[in-house]
Amino acid sequence: MPESRTTDVLIAGQGAAAFAAALYTARYKLNGLVVGDRFGGETAIGGGIENYPGYPEIDGFDLMLRFREQVEKYDLPIVDAAVTAVEDVGDCFLATLSDDSTVRAGAVIFAIGRERRKLNLPHEEAWTGKGVSYCSTCDAPLFRGKVVAVVGGGSAAVEGAILLDKYTTETYLIYRGDRFRRPEPVLVDLLEKRQNVHVLFETEVTELLGDDTAGLTGVKLSKPYEGRDEMVLDGVFIEIGADPRVEIPQTLGVELNSETNEIHVDRHMNTNVDGIFAAGDITDGSGTLKQTITAASQGAVAALAAYQFVSEHSRRCWNHAVGYELGEDVAAD
Ligand SMILES: Cc1cc2nc3c(=O)[nH]c(=O)nc-3n(C[C@H](O)[C@H](O)[C@H](O)COP(=O)(O)OP(=O)(O)OC[C@H]3O[C@@H](n4cnc5c(N)ncnc54)[C@H](O)[C@@H]3O)c2cc1C
Repeated sequence: MPESRTTDVLIAGQGAAAFAAALYTARYKLNGLVVGDRFGGETAIGGGIENYPGYPEIDGFDLMLRFREQVEKYDLPIVDAAVTAVEDVGDCFLATLSDDSTVRAGAVIFAIGRERRKLNLPHEEAWTGKGVSYCSTCDAPLFRGKVVAVVGGGSAAVEGAILLDKYTTETYLIYRGDRFRRPEPVLVDLLEKRQNVHVLFETEVTELLGDDTAGLTGVKLSKPYEGRDEMVLDGVFIEIGADPRVEIPQTLGVELNSETNEIHVDRHMNTNVDGIFAAGDITDGSGTLKQTITAASQGAVAALAAYQFVSEHSRRCWNHAVGYELGEDVAAD
């Protein structure tokens, strides 16, 4: 018989937004449950982090371990599973997990991030953080004095190449289109002024070169550039977009941002559906700046909103036989 749990707040995800939401949920003395299928989310796989305040330099996996350990101090359960469905069953939400168990929750915080679009080339996943990156904003300073390529032709790719140029000796922008269509013209002007950024139109990366010890050492191109179809590189930035994981929230009627397809939230991380909150990269809450710090802070804000919601709906799901009074003012701690 699959397990069935009841909780005040179900936090879907195991990344920065989810752990921060869990920490605040626990400190608001709510009964919470974290359910996520991959520990640490993108932060844990992104390699070194140099822009999380308080840590001049830390491996992303270690940072996420610290997030989780801090949550564990509060005995808030963490379940390694995916949420596969969530329905509104009247007095509460009913979530089904990938291990077939179910969770009845008074409120749900979706912190399940985005799926980076990939080139789907061999070694791409294994060398992520070892020369392969999906985030110029995050990793550009790690490539000081190096030679890199950016793959893509949208705003993120162009902005990425401009940013990388501040650190690298040479940056190649590899784009399969014959000209830029999506980035704002002002961005393209800025790009064209960079002497050490070289744009390769109508070109694709067909292979990632390197080995599992060194990571990426270069790429193979679909057509030669300056007479060679292989390029020696220290890093490749794949900036071809990311898809917010909105399928499950959408089944509940959660409204999306029509331009970005992200969950539309207000400044309290409320969605348009009562009792459903969202935090981190899955939302439009911090615009284009999607980072560990923005995800964590949104998680904290979402936890407060969930606390207020559950407090106002104290008979949701169960009678809270967990030794505290809902509505108790712990939010200001
Ligand atoms: C290569 C790379 C390098 C980066 N470097 C930096 C950096 O240096 N500094 C920085 O600040 N930011 C960096 N970032 C960005 C940062 O990692 C993200 O902004 C941050 O991880 C977003 O956190 P999140 O919790 O919203 O989502 P994520 O970290 O994406 O976490 C989402 C979580 O949800 C889980 N999940 C997905 N579907 C389900 C489901 N159905 N049920 C349950 N769980 C589910 C996932 O397994 C994961 O645990 C980097 C990103 C990448 C890709």
